[in-house]
Amino acid sequence: MKFQSTRDSGVSIDASQAILQGLSPDGGLYIADSFPTFAPDEIKAFGDMGYAQAAAAVIGRYVNDYSASELSGFASKAYSASRWLSAGIAPLTHLDGGISVLELFHGPTCAFKDFALQMLPMLLMSAAKKAGAGEKIAILTATSGDTGKAAIEGFADVGGAAICVFYPEHGTSDIQKLQMTTSGGGNVMVYGVRGNFDDAQSGVKRIFGSSEFARELGCRNIRLSSANSINWGRLAPQTAYYFTAYASLVKAGRIKPGDEMNVCVPSGNFGDILAGYIAKLSGLPVGALVCAANKNNVLADFLGTGVYDSKRPFHATMSPSMDILVSSNVERLLFLLSGRDGARTRSLMEDLALSGKFDIAGSMHENLKKTGFDAGYCGEDDCLAEIKSTFENEKYLMDPHTAVAMRVYREYVRRTGDSRKAIVLSTASPFKFASSVLSAIGPAPSGDGFAMLKELSSRSGLAVPPGLKALEGADERFKEVVDPRDMQSAVARWLAR
Ligand SMILES: *Cc1c(COP(=O)(O)O)cnc(C)c1O
Repeated sequence: MKFQSTRDSGVSIDASQAILQGLSPDGGLYIADSFPTFAPDEIKAFGDMGYAQAAAAVIGRYVNDYSASELSGFASKAYSASRWLSAGIAPLTHLDGGISVLELFHGPTCAFKDFALQMLPMLLMSAAKKAGAGEKIAILTATSGDTGKAAIEGFADVGGAAICVFYPEHGTSDIQKLQMTTSGGGNVMVYGVRGNFDDAQSGVKRIFGSSEFARELGCRNIRLSSANSINWGRLAPQTAYYFTAYASLVKAGRIKPGDEMNVCVPSGNFGDILAGYIAKLSGLPVGALVCAANKNNVLADFLGTGVYDSKRPFHATMSPSMDILVSSNVERLLFLLSGRDGARTRSLMEDLALSGKFDIAGSMHENLKKTGFDAGYCGEDDCLAEIKSTFENEKYLMDPHTAVAMRVYREYVRRTGDSRKAIVLSTASPFKFASSVLSAIGPAPSGDGFAMLKELSSRSGLAVPPGLKALEGADERFKEVVDPRDMQSAVARWLAR
């Protein structure tokens, strides 16, 4: 297995290089040139392993130049019981109607990003060692709220690395913002950006695109890399929980080996659901792959029509990690739908850059219809109603991102009558969005963020995750806010310290 660029299928590099570089110099994203196939027995066996062991086995099939013992060491650190609140790491909770919730929020920062970002620093630092250049790795990351803290948690005080996070000044929940601005770590920097997530993300992409800046840093033996889901080192770890979830359903007797399970994923940058699609292409029996969007429903429209149109109003919603109009991992899907045609993918991405739009009419759209992708979106009122009804009827409390997916999945079932068992991915702890969740299940909340955490705990009977409790009274270390056009000079200033 080697790695191609989505804009040049002739590129052929090792996984470690792809992870080290993050983005290909031609602007494309790296992707494995072929996907492994998992035999049914292999998948079933994941049900009898601990999460770390299963994850190492899965991830090892999506990278070519890391040894099994290396990956098993990384995974046992990344997914150790001491860092996660649930011994199962990625447990399932079964609800009515054949729906199981795959809870991915029991990690150190209470969002699913921990699955990839507990693992990525080790993959990356090992890649730097393999490359042997002795460079310092500077990670730049744009965040819509959850990636930032998860990346900081993964990279803080990692020798040879430094991490800088950009978040939209008013685009995250209060708790998310505090998680970042109170971070420790001598190698950490956090900036607010005057703009939305797309502004922050395109600012980071511009910095990566500047060969002059890369040369300047190169002279000081610094290499820029990315912790965003454009990095293959983010995607590979995310494939693992689709396999373990399937194996758990088999083990619980809810499906028989070989039965298809449906999957519904609350989506923003399209990384999480793409990992599910890749698992499906590797032989995991996945039926429908339902992409759930919030009011920023560009992905649902695209999957329905084949036209991707980012020229639309941007809405700040209560599921901010999905407030994204330019969804970076769609590029990997385009590459696959085009039969790995780098020129075709490049031309579609150029259309997007020039006009904010592209259209895959023709064979790519026909191919899309055969993938199993389905999609829907959920507005703000429906999201609140879903949190409330699921809490009242099934005693299950969801965060707004999860609620979007739950609503979309229930609607999918109503529309299609599809009765296959399903997993709905739960991507964040309800405590991270306590204010929205409280207003969904009862009278509008009052008081500060910490009063809300306590209120939510007493109303739900769930404990406040210790990582969030610890924010109370923590010192806000990072207060600087920059304009999108000043992001590069902010990075230069930080690296010059
Ligand atoms: C990042 C995030 C998402 C969206 O995941 P993508 O991989 O960007 O599609 C959904 N929910 C939460 C809570 C997130 O943090």
